[in-house]
Amino acid sequence: MTELLYFSSDQLTVDATIQACVAVQNGYEVTLNRTVFHSQGGGQPSDVGHMGAARVTKVVERNGTLVHCIDARLEIGVVGLQVDKDARLLHSRLHTAGHLIGHAVAPLGFIATRAHHWPGEARVDVSPTAMGGACLSVNELQSRVDALIAQDLPRILRLHEGFREIGFGELPAFPCGGTHVISTGMVGSCVIDDIGKNGNGFRIRYAVI
Ligand SMILES: [Zn+2]
Repeated sequence: MTELLYFSSDQLTVDATIQACVAVQNGYEVTLNRTVFHSQGGGQPSDVGHMGAARVTKVVERNGTLVHCIDARLEIGVVGLQVDKDARLLHSRLHTAGHLIGHAVAPLGFIATRAHHWPGEARVDVSPTAMGGACLSVNELQSRVDALIAQDLPRILRLHEGFREIGFGELPAFPCGGTHVISTGMVGSCVIDDIGKNGNGFRIRYAVI
């Protein structure tokens, strides 16, 4: 079992122990005792970066095991890990913006049901709640998201018994395993690109710039 340091920490470097390094078709797959790399999942791409002299191109969970895909063979033993900070920041801004869109639509009678926070294709799907949201305008949503960013609400991280909840300021917290910026102001600028009909709700496409 790999200890997931990103669950409770924003650190981007750590020394870890390589437990296995297996040759595969396009490189090598490594398992570690602990990691600072966020794996692909929860609508978020994996971190990239370096493991010793090797490049970490992807991290995925496979059958309960965290697999780090690297481009060079490494020996069993201790190795330094380094997450690419620019990619992590972009992913965290996109993911946090997704949370804010979910918070922004709640008073309008919608709940976020699915989210995909990949660069260039970020979107949040929302459905009407019992309050019965009927329409959703780009301008209304944009101003609500802008307001949440302007308030620069601090991230609140709570861990209990292996579960993790993420909230911002006094907004309701939700279980989440992704990476987030430390306050909503760090999202920077979130642009609502488009709101399209999606089943009985809407698909909101957005970007951070
Ligand atoms: Zn999250």
